[in-house]
Amino acid sequence: MHSPGLADMVGQLISSPSISSTLEQFDQGNLEVVNVLANWVQPLGFEVTIKPIPGKPNKANLIAKRGSGNNALVLSGHTDTVPLDEDLWQTNPFSITEKDGRWYGLGTCDMKSFFALAIEAMRPLLDTDFRQPLIILATADEESTMSGARNLTAEDFASAKYALIGEPTGLTPVKQHKGIMMLRALVTGTSGHSSNPELGRNALDSIAALIEEIIQFRNEIGSEHVDDAFDVPCPTINLGCIRGGDNPNRICDHVELGFDVRVLPGMSNDEIRLSLTKRLLARLKKADLKCDLNLMHPAVPPFENEEEELLSLLEQISRSSAKSVAFATEAPFLKTLGMETVILGPGAIEQAHQPNEFIPLNHIDPSIDIIRRLIAEICC
Ligand SMILES: [Zn+2]
Repeated sequence: MHSPGLADMVGQLISSPSISSTLEQFDQGNLEVVNVLANWVQPLGFEVTIKPIPGKPNKANLIAKRGSGNNALVLSGHTDTVPLDEDLWQTNPFSITEKDGRWYGLGTCDMKSFFALAIEAMRPLLDTDFRQPLIILATADEESTMSGARNLTAEDFASAKYALIGEPTGLTPVKQHKGIMMLRALVTGTSGHSSNPELGRNALDSIAALIEEIIQFRNEIGSEHVDDAFDVPCPTINLGCIRGGDNPNRICDHVELGFDVRVLPGMSNDEIRLSLTKRLLARLKKADLKCDLNLMHPAVPPFENEEEELLSLLEQISRSSAKSVAFATEAPFLKTLGMETVILGPGAIEQAHQPNEFIPLNHIDPSIDIIRRLIAEICC
C-alpha cells in the first residue's frame, strides 16, 4: 500500500493552480508547483536547478538530479494544466476529492500526480547511493507552446540516457505519436464597391479553390503515408475554422482559414508546410491574390522511439506491449537531446482536458511499482 502522505502530496500539487494557455486571460505561472517539488526533492538528496523560461517571468523548468554517472534516468512531467470550465465540475477542481475509487481534480490525470508517484516510488531506494543518476524534470507550458521543453539544452542532460514521460497512457508504454501543426492560410485581395467586381480582387472567390487544393493534398499524403500501428493510420488535416470579409456589398479583401496537420513519424512538418505553400500559391496565382501560410503556434514534431532498450524494459515491467497514440507530447524534444524516450503513466487520456478529470485509484500502486522497478533497474 502507498503511504497516506501520497494523497496530501497530490492534493498540494492540485491546489497550486498552473494553467497554461496561449490566451493571455487564462495563462498562469507554474512557480508554485516548481517550488513545491523543489522542497520535496531537496531533502531526498537531489541537487535542484530551477531554470526560468526566457520572456516568461512567472514560468520555469525544474531539473533535480541525485547521483552521478553518464546513464541517468529522467522521470519527466509537465507542471501545467489546461484551462477549465469550472461550472461543469462537480467537485472543487483545485483540491483532490476521493470518490468512487478515484481522485478528482484538475491535473490529477494530466499529469501532476505523476510527480508524487515518482517520489513515493523512489523512497525505499534512497538508503543507498545511486549507481546512475536519477533526474526529475518538471516542465512549463506543455499544454500551450511547449516553451519549457523547447528551452531545455543538451548541456542540462549531458548525463541522461533514458527518459520516461508520465503522461496518461493507462500504464501501457507508448513508442510513437503523431506531430501537430496548426496553420493559418491568409488570402488577401483588395476591397471595393460590390456593384463592380473590377473595383477590387475578391478573396472569398478563391476560397473554394483553396479548400479543394488542401483536400487534394490531404488525399495525396494520406495515400502516400500509412502506418497501421495508429488507430487513424494516415496523416490528417482538419479544416477547423474560417473567417473573412464584413459586408455583402463590399468586395471581400481578406479571408483566413485555420486547419491542423498531424503527420506520422518519419514525416516532416516543415516539408509538408513548404509543399502545401507552393501548391496554394500556384493555385491562387491566376486570381492575383496573395496567400500566406503561417504557423499559429510552434509545431510539435512527430515522435518515434528507435532504440528500444528502455522500451523493452518497460514492456517487461508493465507486462504490456507498446502502442502508438494520436496525442502529442514533449517526447520529440527529449529525444533530440539524446535520450531514449518512452511515454507511460497512470490514467487515461480520455480523462484529460475534461471537466471532472480523475485518476483511478487502482492505477496508483501499479504506477509506483513500475516506476520503482525502473529506478531500481537503471539507477541502483
Ligand atoms: Zn499532459
